[in-house]
Amino acid sequence: MNCVECDRPAHGTCRFCGRGLCKDHFNSANFIVTISNNQSKNEEGPEVLVVKNVLKCSHCEPLGELISLNKKD
Ligand SMILES: [Zn+2]
Ligand SMILES: [Zn+2]
Repeated sequence: MNCVECDRPAHGTCRFCGRGLCKDHFNSANFIVTISNNQSKNEEGPEVLVVKNVLKCSHCEPLGELISLNKKD
């Protein structure tokens, strides 16, 4: 697999879309791995497990605004 940007051999793949990326072209982002919605254990709302600094290409951008996981109702 080659980098989607420069067509050199890729060093990894974008965690979000799977495009190949060389070390000059990947970015890092945070990635939510799992959401726990155990209300009996945590009254604050769902807990999320986030992995920091995963590979992300320049084509994957957040869509819209952040969504609060804490319900206010
Ligand atoms: Zn590249
Ligand atoms: Zn991507």
